Amino acid sequence: MLPIFSETKRVGIVGAAYRLQLSKDPKVEVHLYEVDGRVGGRVKTHRFTSEKNQYFEAGAMRIPDTRMHAPTLNLIRLLKDTHHAGLNLIPYLLTTPGNRIFINGILKNVSDHNTAMALGFNLPEPYNNQTADALLLSAIESFLDLLGRDFEAGWKLLMKYDKVSFRAYLLDLNWPESVIDFVETMCSQTNQFALSFSELVMQNMDFSTKAWLTLEDGMDKLPQALAGVVGMDNITFSARVQKIEQENDQVKVYADTPGGRVEGTFDKIVLAIPPSALRMIPERPRWDPTKEQAIRAMYFEALYKIGIRFKTRFWEHVQPPSIGGQSTTDLPIRWIVYPSYGINSDGPGVLLLYSWNTDASVWSSIPFSERLRSSLCHLSKVFKDIDVFDQFITAEDLAWSEHNPTGDAMFFPGQFSQYFDIARRPEANIYFAGEHLSRHHTWITGAIDSGRSTAQDIITSFTSKPCPTGWIPRAGVEPEDYYDSEAYRRKVAMDGLEGFKGDRKGFEDSILHSSLG
Ligand SMILES: Cc1cc2nc3c(=O)[nH]c(=O)nc-3n(C[C@H](O)[C@H](O)[C@H](O)COP(=O)(O)OP(=O)(O)OC[C@H]3O[C@@H](n4cnc5c(N)ncnc54)[C@H](O)[C@@H]3O)c2cc1C
Repeated sequence: MLPIFSETKRVGIVGAAYRLQLSKDPKVEVHLYEVDGRVGGRVKTHRFTSEKNQYFEAGAMRIPDTRMHAPTLNLIRLLKDTHHAGLNLIPYLLTTPGNRIFINGILKNVSDHNTAMALGFNLPEPYNNQTADALLLSAIESFLDLLGRDFEAGWKLLMKYDKVSFRAYLLDLNWPESVIDFVETMCSQTNQFALSFSELVMQNMDFSTKAWLTLEDGMDKLPQALAGVVGMDNITFSARVQKIEQENDQVKVYADTPGGRVEGTFDKIVLAIPPSALRMIPERPRWDPTKEQAIRAMYFEALYKIGIRFKTRFWEHVQPPSIGGQSTTDLPIRWIVYPSYGINSDGPGVLLLYSWNTDASVWSSIPFSERLRSSLCHLSKVFKDIDVFDQFITAEDLAWSEHNPTGDAMFFPGQFSQYFDIARRPEANIYFAGEHLSRHHTWITGAIDSGRSTAQDIITSFTSKPCPTGWIPRAGVEPEDYYDSEAYRRKVAMDGLEGFKGDRKGFEDSILHSSLG
């Protein structure tokens, strides 16, 4: 059953990352405005050459294989089934035993018993002989357990502690500062524990996952496949939205393109852009002070990635080899990420160096030539047995703080409880979406969740009736059967697979029916 409203409604969407949900309804015409010349936003694959595996993910790179991330995984499977999109999920290795650790000038392997003492820290007893992972788990295990069993109950509990930082919570457990610094250095990045308790618990819930996936040949295949479903004619690229005007029951959007200013009139619009981008729209309505405060304040942490292409995949030939996974260091490069694609292949390969928060910000202070020199210099401290300068071919980097999202949402203490509902609240016919407006910050799943719940609000406003239960679930929650690819496959098999392939209406109806169960 489709939501019923008599005339076709027009919805404008600013920001073209994950905007499928509305386009599946035949009574809603969608038009997207995207400032870049590509879709994807923070999903961005950089390809050095067109040869196999010569790329790195400058944005999103991995998906935990958990129920919480089913929105992303099932969307990929669905697109693959219905649109022949070349979307192949392959294993992503988060850590492997050969991965080196380089802390306080000491070189170890992940598989060693890496206690504080062994890594050159000098902590009070009983902490000195413990690993950072074990200490961290002891502090948050009960929260992880509850979130895993009952997400809503776990979330309620998290919100009780939302106003404290993760560091304050650990101090409350009587952890000495030096112990907190040790765990932060090993399990996180510099100053992350100053962020909210709830963010850090959510982050650790995801990173405690054992099985991970990524897309073969690049994550940007996902937004490209979605753009195909939306239809390229429905996207205006290189269009920076500069003005939004509410007039009677309609909203007007004005965007600057290389060919001049374009405009569109809509029944509703969705501002699916990060708060930093929203603030930079020079002419837009002003909302009440609490909403404006939320837009100003919601904290995004800096993220920095540099991909370096080498003549060989030397990290797979050292002893012990790094076959995927990542190395932790306390150097400015922080994490060395070994590709999970193309393992054991011959010829050149690409390494990724990745930092967050304060560790990421420092890179913006120097030009690219210095970033590269510093990266290679630090890398050579971890790989003393390799001449990385001789191995070097080329590199590319992306400091996200220098681009419109500025990074990923990681809230300060109290920002979830104080700003979340206000920031998501529609303002007449203007709606809001994005990963920062979900409970699952820093993940594609968060962006999809938020897109769904905004779509639900819009459809409900058109129909004046609530959407059918389960059609679009609440953010962060994935009913067992929603986008259930098994159920979907059975249905496709029954109706005749061939009839559906490449057929947009069939695709849309089948999502709707399978989600209605
Ligand atoms: C370095 C990095 C690593 C990450 N790693 C992972 C990972 O491993 N796994 C994972 O699931 N997620 C990861 N993420 C997070 C994930 O990429 C984001 O949560 C998700 O892509 C956010 O989607 P979004 O639609 O909310 O915002 P965005 O992707 O930022 O989309 C917003 C869009 O709006 C456009 N825009 C902005 N202003 C305007 C304007 N005025 N007019 C028109 N268009 C405009 C932008 O160009 C952009 O395309 C990572 C992100 C980064 C940066």
